[in-house]
Amino acid sequence: MKAAVLEDFKKPLTIETVHDPDLSPDGVIIEIKACGVCRSDWHGWMGQWQGFLAPLPHILGHETSGEVVAAGKNVRNFKKGDRVIVPFTQGDGTCPHCLAGHSNVCDHQAMPGFTYNGGFAQFMQIPKADHNLKRLPDGVHYLDASAMGCRFMTAFHGVTSVGKIRPGEWVAVYGAGGVGLSATQIATAIGANVIAVDISDDKLDFAKKVGAVATVNSKKENAPEAIREITRGGANVSIDALGIQETMLNSVLSLNKRGRHVQIGMTSFGKEGMLKLPINDIVDKEIRFSGSFGMPISEYAGMLQMVEKKRLQPGKLVTKTISLESIDDAFHDMTTFSGKGVTVITDFEEKRPPRNYNYFEKQAV
Ligand SMILES: [Zn+2]
Ligand SMILES: [Zn+2]
Repeated sequence: MKAAVLEDFKKPLTIETVHDPDLSPDGVIIEIKACGVCRSDWHGWMGQWQGFLAPLPHILGHETSGEVVAAGKNVRNFKKGDRVIVPFTQGDGTCPHCLAGHSNVCDHQAMPGFTYNGGFAQFMQIPKADHNLKRLPDGVHYLDASAMGCRFMTAFHGVTSVGKIRPGEWVAVYGAGGVGLSATQIATAIGANVIAVDISDDKLDFAKKVGAVATVNSKKENAPEAIREITRGGANVSIDALGIQETMLNSVLSLNKRGRHVQIGMTSFGKEGMLKLPINDIVDKEIRFSGSFGMPISEYAGMLQMVEKKRLQPGKLVTKTISLESIDDAFHDMTTFSGKGVTVITDFEEKRPPRNYNYFEKQAV
């Protein structure tokens, strides 16, 4: 199959012909129809997530949807021809967290494109498929599905399950990238009033298009002050989609009494990831601070139903569709923060002769 392979960090991915993925008894192989390019892929490509990422050479890509072409002998719920979306946070299906419906925090977590080869290729294998795949409703296209693969579903879990956002509430969203725009669209669909915060007017304009009722450019004004003024007291919920000291702190400072902060953006690892919080504010305003990670498979049905009924439209966040060969351009846009919205690979066909290389024969997929 053709794949875009990460051989060296920060170097262009190489388009190669590699060995097709092997099929395990509990896995399925899908032909990939669409795969989003996410900032997490960029972090992996930059070499920032070593230890977590499988050894190189490796195939990134975790916002994947496609059609089942083969199912292992122990797979019960999927068969050839099924249209599926591949959840990003995957569980073993047997640990106490999975059994309680929280597969996103499984004790033996797997992540396509990180812990095993992902969707920057024509085919991929999904292990433990009965626990880690979801069938797509007929009305949901592959482009919508891949636009939902990581950032959208992460926002859906953060808005609905962790933030428990209700109609009429004020919601501040820090960061108008993929996660922030998704959170804006989802919270708006639920009936909340979203204020988008970013340093780019371009991105804020886009946030308005997907539902934000107000925007704050934090380069030009003090964001928590502006939000307290717009809301006359502070937001009920504030989401930090970025994970840096400034946005996390400003998010907490934007809250009204008894407000809920939802931390979706991940920060650096190690000591650099130890950020400061205004503890006295958190105590005397009874602010709740919650982390939100991916989305358990148990919550997919609700999200897919809202997409099928067009109450959510993840495809509207897609600003660019590209071919597998163009991933490096997408990474370049991320390095320079020049892109906006979501980029999805939809063309996996051969464009130029790939380099033949067979190291994947020895590598377990
Ligand atoms: Zn992602
Ligand atoms: Zn588990």
